Amino acid sequence: MNLSIVVPLYNEEESLPELCSWIKSVVDQHGYTYEVLLIDDGSRDDSWKVIQTIAASNPNIKGIKFQRNYGKSAALNEGFKAAQGDVVITMDADMQDSPDEIPALYQMIVEEGFDMVSGWKKKRYDNTLTKNIPSKLFNAVARKSSGIKLHDFNCGLKAYKRKVVKCIEVFGEMHRYIPVLAKWSGFRKIGEKIVEHRPRKYGTTKFGWDRFINGFLDLGTIMFLGKFGKKPMQFFGLYGTLAFLIGFLTSGYLMVAKILDPEVGITNKPAFYIALAVMIIGMQLFLTGFVAELVARNASERNVYLIEEKLGLEEA
Ligand code: UDP
Ligand code: MG
Repeated sequence: MNLSIVVPLYNEEESLPELCSWIKSVVDQHGYTYEVLLIDDGSRDDSWKVIQTIAASNPNIKGIKFQRNYGKSAALNEGFKAAQGDVVITMDADMQDSPDEIPALYQMIVEEGFDMVSGWKKKRYDNTLTKNIPSKLFNAVARKSSGIKLHDFNCGLKAYKRKVVKCIEVFGEMHRYIPVLAKWSGFRKIGEKIVEHRPRKYGTTKFGWDRFINGFLDLGTIMFLGKFGKKPMQFFGLYGTLAFLIGFLTSGYLMVAKILDPEVGITNKPAFYIALAVMIIGMQLFLTGFVAELVARNASERNVYLIEEKLGLEEA
């Protein structure tokens, strides 16, 4: 199968029929073999009924329905698990992403050999104040901290080699950082394509202003996990030791000063209290490091290696 198109959706009943017939017409035109995986993320409207109707008339349309709303990341993750196509393309269900982009994305993966290609909504049709400006800031930070040169991390329209989506686990709100997850897994050829963005035709956006705070928090998590997820002590231990030493030396200095000259006051100096606080913080960082190290050692995925190729060994 050439193509799996994964569509996470939550309350998008009006868009689905149009979206599916548009995808079908584009894909048929190019003669791709394909499947469309519609992941109903616990919709409360009639999305699932609509999916059943569409699937009944087209065997390439498949559906997965969640019991409740788990979020876009969970929906994508489930779609990735099920996908069988050589190239996996994700797009939003609200038709803000255009299916006309599919062939070009497919070719970038198959012919130009990209591991993953991310869409870039260069011209956006969203509210400027609440989306476009925070999004610029967000992308700049993500670019800086991850070292991946993308303008639009959070674009719903992306294409992957199949093995990429099989290697990464999208959880929490990590759908914003799939390029980062891919990079951590060792996929370096990450490309970008300017894609057409369209105004939302039906329904409403599912993300509010809190997306940006959550987005930054998740960026912190992901950068930390990528670097220190398997050796947390190297982070907490370093800063814990530093803080403790600074506090210890400062209070030692104060103590010596007091011994040499009993007239010197200690408890009236801010440095005394700062030294105490810093020592306690250092201890806590250190202990956090220990606990984190225990957790990391017991984590089920402590030894997941991604093997790219084997020579002279039989494939299991
Ligand atoms: N979505 C989802 N689960 C959620 C929230 C959103 O599957 O909990 C889907 C939604 O139906 C849409 C896509 O994720 O297909 C992007 O959502 P939306 O269009 O609301 O985001 P925006 O375009 O405003 O960034
Ligand atoms: Mg949208």
